Amino acid sequence: MVIILFGPPGAGKGTQAHLLAQRLGLPRIVTGDLFREAITRGDALGAQVKPYLERGELVPDDLTIALVVARLQRADCVAGVVLDGFPRTVAQAQWFDHELKKHRRAVDCVVNLVVGDDEVFHRLAGRMICSACQRTYHVTAMRPEKIGVCDQCGGKLIQRADDSSAAIPVRLRAYREQTEPVLTYYRGKQCVVNVDGEASPEVVQQRILDSLPFALMAASSS
Ligand code: AMP
Repeated sequence: MVIILFGPPGAGKGTQAHLLAQRLGLPRIVTGDLFREAITRGDALGAQVKPYLERGELVPDDLTIALVVARLQRADCVAGVVLDGFPRTVAQAQWFDHELKKHRRAVDCVVNLVVGDDEVFHRLAGRMICSACQRTYHVTAMRPEKIGVCDQCGGKLIQRADDSSAAIPVRLRAYREQTEPVLTYYRGKQCVVNVDGEASPEVVQQRILDSLPFALMAASSS
């Protein structure tokens, strides 16, 4: 089962992918986290991708695809995956289809989280993440119990470099110009469901479960 969480930055893909993967017993592939981990490790990939992430631009397709290839080869992906942040260009989507086809598989569902521009900006500008476990908070909508400290692991809360007011417009433009065409690509394959993403995480998760094709839900409960 291959499910893609789709939507602009700040649409809630991370939260929803986490809940859905737990529910379906599948691993998540989160390209943004894989890049951030490489930057924290300070390895060669991290050095290559850091400037792109800081500016809010997309990492080139060849680097992104190589990273996803390596991750998909791990044994935990055999039963399927929930993808968050990939594919983000039509070239990535075409490559991914080609890889899946080799294993007689295909993308089962693209969940398109629909969130308006004003809400996206508000969410990103107030977002804080835990520097240790990556859990997300918001300065007004989802405050931690103790300011600046993660409720889950006690890690320090920070603002992502690409949640700065300079980088947010660049990321939104990259989404409109490079990533939205991916939706048209998958619409042609009739596997897209639109889900209103402007509600609490629990409500949005229920909307996603209600809109997944029946065959997927039956497979996940058997
Ligand atoms: P995210 O956490 O999903 O917002 O991703 C953070 C950043 O990682 C993006 O702004 C891009 O710089 C990079 N990134 C994540 N996924 C991809 C992708 N599929 N293709 C290119 N760049 C990506």
